[in-house]
Amino acid sequence: MADFDFDAVVVGAGAVGLACGHALSRRGLTVAVLEAEAAIGQGVSSRNSEVIHGGLYYPTGSLKARLCVAGRRALYGFLESHHVDFDRCGKLVVATSADEVGRLDDIWAQARTNGVEGMDRLTRAQALALEPELACEGALISPNSGVFDSHGYMLALQGEIEAAGGAVVLSTPFEGAAPIEGGGFAVRAGGAEPARLTCRYLVTAPGLSAQAVAASIEGFPAGEIPKGHYGKGMYFRLAGKAPFRRLIYPPPIHGALGTHYRRDLGGQAVFGPDLHYVETLDYSVDPGMRGAFAAYIRKFWPAVPEDALTPDYAGIRPKLHGPDEPQPDFRLDGADLHGLAGLVALFGIESPGLTSSLAIGEEVAARLGV
Ligand SMILES: Cc1cc2nc3c(=O)[nH]c(=O)nc-3n(C[C@H](O)[C@H](O)[C@H](O)COP(=O)(O)OP(=O)(O)OC[C@H]3O[C@@H](n4cnc5c(N)ncnc54)[C@H](O)[C@@H]3O)c2cc1C
Repeated sequence: MADFDFDAVVVGAGAVGLACGHALSRRGLTVAVLEAEAAIGQGVSSRNSEVIHGGLYYPTGSLKARLCVAGRRALYGFLESHHVDFDRCGKLVVATSADEVGRLDDIWAQARTNGVEGMDRLTRAQALALEPELACEGALISPNSGVFDSHGYMLALQGEIEAAGGAVVLSTPFEGAAPIEGGGFAVRAGGAEPARLTCRYLVTAPGLSAQAVAASIEGFPAGEIPKGHYGKGMYFRLAGKAPFRRLIYPPPIHGALGTHYRRDLGGQAVFGPDLHYVETLDYSVDPGMRGAFAAYIRKFWPAVPEDALTPDYAGIRPKLHGPDEPQPDFRLDGADLHGLAGLVALFGIESPGLTSSLAIGEEVAARLGV
């Protein structure tokens, strides 16, 4: 059997790459996580809602449905045992008009199929008893949804990988790999100290660079690389007291869960993300969107003071579908698709990727047969 520098190399130190590194190092493998940036978690994992999703919406039998529910259960335990801050505040999915009431039934039925625990249906009066400033025609409550400190979580994952003898190597972009005859990969890494290293297993979790990274692996069939799209989402923050304790979500829009309300761990109210397809990684927030945000928020919070909404930040979703196409599942592509034994290539890890991350790591390890 060939000797390898590492049992496994993971590309990308976002929440998902780190969770994959953790799952592999837990199984006794030596792991190197290569990260292009000078710090972990600077990509999609740093620009999102930090919501722990229940797993309500995702289609029956999809990876999103299964890995979100499993990932959420595992995540609370991990956060607790690693003293990472979270708030299991619960979430209300609200019907903001009479014609949205039927959608709550559909979401509840899907949540039951997905095995989401503790869900219940609330009348308008019951919802308002919980959140007096709310306007709605009825609601669903998901008590196990919450918010968490995603950066603290990623630091804890890094700590676990390093404690197991693995390495998270910063400022070290993966530049390509070639399969080794007899198994494994020869990896080229750049940066100030370019390196060549070998590994038995390769996992690519580079978020928005998934297509470029796959294309840099010798023998990866170009026809198996799914087309990527950028789905930008902007957030506005409220200057003033947060109006609700729980997460508030109107029913999903096409292609995303849509603008929602959360009270972050600092106690501040944040609204977003909307969805715009963009061609470049442009993280600006257009102050001109304030009116559109206020109009949307007013549907569930009539008293929203428009002047108190301030542009906050934006994130970009690594999407695999265009605006008018159906939203596909996560892709954790193995040798059955690309033909390269020992490689799992991740594509389209948009929401609920953060919530699912620990379960994605376990699934990747299972697909590698370790
Ligand atoms: C607006 C928005 C809101 C969201 N809200 C939620 C939410 O509330 N809850 C939830 O569960 N999910 C949410 N998500 C989804 C979640 O944020 C992502 O699924 C998750 O963060 C993806 O993590 P990742 O590790 O795959 O990607 P990333 O965090 O982007 O990590 C990829 C890493 O790879 C590195 N990299 C890229 N190329 C290379 C290379 N060649 N060599 C080395 N390193 C490289 C990057 O620098 C980066 O650090 C949201 C996403 C968005 C955009």
